[in-house]
Amino acid sequence: MIEVTVRFEVDDRPTTPGEIEDEYLAEMLDHTGEQARQHVQARLGAMRCPEHGGAPKVTVTAQYQTDSEQMELGYHVDACCSRLLMMAVGALNH
Ligand SMILES: [Zn+2]
Repeated sequence: MIEVTVRFEVDDRPTTPGEIEDEYLAEMLDHTGEQARQHVQARLGAMRCPEHGGAPKVTVTAQYQTDSEQMELGYHVDACCSRLLMMAVGALNH
């Protein structure tokens, strides 16, 4: 397992599912965040840097726009070196 942080933004404002009054939207964000977390763990959970032994850290940003009803997921990876970064980004995009 690695460290995965999920952030939520609705209409470009940072928020959390618990703060959202629209129950349907809150549940959708919660669900999307959980799926993204599982996706990252499945792909990167066992990954370690062959040189330094470090694990990648991932921040997922789930951005929702209410006017267009579009959800976008962004992945930010922190790694001990560029080699691990390349491995992690490659595995995420695979
Ligand atoms: Zn490294």
